[in-house]
Amino acid sequence: MTTRRADELELKESLRADCTRCAALCCVALAFRASEEFAADKLPGIACPNLVEGHACAIHGRLRTAGYRGCATFDCFGAGQQVSVHTCAGVRWEDGGAGAANMFVVFDAMRRLKELLWHLADAAEAAGTGPLRATVDETRHVVQALVWEEAATLEHLDVLALQQQVLALLGEVSSAHRGQLPACSGLPLAAGDLRQADFTGANLRGADLRYARLATAVLAGADLTGADLFGADLRDADVRGAQLAGSLYLTQLQAEAADGDEATTLPGAIRRPAHWRTADPADRGQRSPRGDGDGSPGDAFLFEDSWEDAAGRFGREPEGGG
Ligand code: SF4
Repeated sequence: MTTRRADELELKESLRADCTRCAALCCVALAFRASEEFAADKLPGIACPNLVEGHACAIHGRLRTAGYRGCATFDCFGAGQQVSVHTCAGVRWEDGGAGAANMFVVFDAMRRLKELLWHLADAAEAAGTGPLRATVDETRHVVQALVWEEAATLEHLDVLALQQQVLALLGEVSSAHRGQLPACSGLPLAAGDLRQADFTGANLRGADLRYARLATAVLAGADLTGADLFGADLRDADVRGAQLAGSLYLTQLQAEAADGDEATTLPGAIRRPAHWRTADPADRGQRSPRGDGDGSPGDAFLFEDSWEDAAGRFGREPEGGG
């Protein structure tokens, strides 16, 4: 492993959620809607009814079966512990008032910053020694410095504008990186509504799948090396036996939402989700209900952003409905 690659992996390790050092911020600050992902509505800034003393979740071990799959897949990229232990140290959201409200604003900004750092680590690796590498490194330093800023600075940070800037850079790196790969096999590559599409065994190397709607799509055995999966909706996508190692911008959240197995290859920083099954080629194409994951509030799905909100914000128009 090259030193540079090891550095990127180390950075990503530092972006792991540690719920034991977090005041359960995601369970309070964020909102969610009753849906396939959540069993009930919850308003932002209101503690989830399942949150119990000690910042613990009463249904921790059975989130998926209890209808809270969104919580089982959510990932704060370590924003929770950063805000709880560092940025807003000494503030208790339980005390309410402006302190709590500010803490939630800071948590939102921090989660976005940390997610950007995750993707910038991928971008640094993909950029290699190419012309974009210096810009990626410079951008990482700016974002990394913001992570350690005081709460008052983060409260007023225009984090959405920063996101737009960084996402443009991620797109540039992606285009350059994918341009070096041999063209894939003529399958529809423009991101869009690919729900339930069957890409079994397909060559999707270098495909542009940014914000692609791949929920319930079959990608079993597909080769996604170099494919850009930024923001792709992989909920219940069948990625058994798929080559996801070498894909760009994949997050733990997307992996947790998908349905893979032991034969699925993953980028080095992504942990194999607990609910993925043992590889069985004879089983590919057959869907079965998913079991429980480890159920920590630190591994979940989009809370306040629907896929439509996120895709629209970054310039990719959602197609079709729900
Ligand atoms: S993990 Fe989900 S269900 Fe459990 S307390 Fe947090 S928000 Fe509620």
